[in-house]
Amino acid sequence: MIRKFYPYGKKKAFNVTYDDGVEQDVRFVELLNKYNLKGTFNLNSALMEQEFEWTHESGLVVKRLNQKEVASLYKGHEVASHTATHPYMDNLTKEEILRELSWDKRRLEEIFSEEVSGFAVPFDYYSELIEECVKECGFEYARISEESLCFSPQSDYYNWKATVFHLDDSLEELAERFVRSDSELALFQIVGHSYDLDTEDKWECIENILRRIGNNSDVLSMTTIELVRYLRAMDKAEITEEYIENNSEESLWFLVDETLCEVKPKAKISLK
Ligand SMILES: [Zn+2]
Repeated sequence: MIRKFYPYGKKKAFNVTYDDGVEQDVRFVELLNKYNLKGTFNLNSALMEQEFEWTHESGLVVKRLNQKEVASLYKGHEVASHTATHPYMDNLTKEEILRELSWDKRRLEEIFSEEVSGFAVPFDYYSELIEECVKECGFEYARISEESLCFSPQSDYYNWKATVFHLDDSLEELAERFVRSDSELALFQIVGHSYDLDTEDKWECIENILRRIGNNSDVLSMTTIELVRYLRAMDKAEITEEYIENNSEESLWFLVDETLCEVKPKAKISLK
């Protein structure tokens, strides 16, 4: 029997993907670092530069982190694009969408001195036109604003749904089910904005989940781009009863009849 595993022979993967780059990310990143977990942070470079702020209905003033604050904060995590100015994109022309995406990608790459290959949709509007622009700008995936509410990894990388929004009533129950899940390549991915943890008083709840998952030796914490690249590499593998052929540039892991196997890039292993 052949079963697909995540890198280093881990059965499951975990990720958080948080939007907007707000002040509460400082506390949130501290928590991730405390439990050795990786996150993906989706940022709007123009709002960062304006140090944009707005008042939440609870009265909390939600502030964007500025460029100086973000540079070291997200070290070890993924920075992804969330458009330059966070528009609702239903009325934008193709040129305007392309400008929002490419401008943000370029600015974030300058600020962080690293390649930005991920994209998360602002608000909840997504369309085939936006998908086309995401691909034209060279992004490798687009996270949309829908929940999958299951542990199967997504197969459409340009309509990527995270597992659950962090204010969903089912969050804790799903986290518990994930810890007990035995499904192949099980993935749990939480989406949110860290200011909700203040307004909804959710810090303790989220820390309990991060601790529980961070202490689980079956789980590998990955950024979204690492997940997408690994799953794409797995898609390209040829798996038969006789052999496994890795057609990608990264190592793939499998459990073959109780034995853990690492198949190196471009390698083929015989199962006979
Ligand atoms: Zn947002």
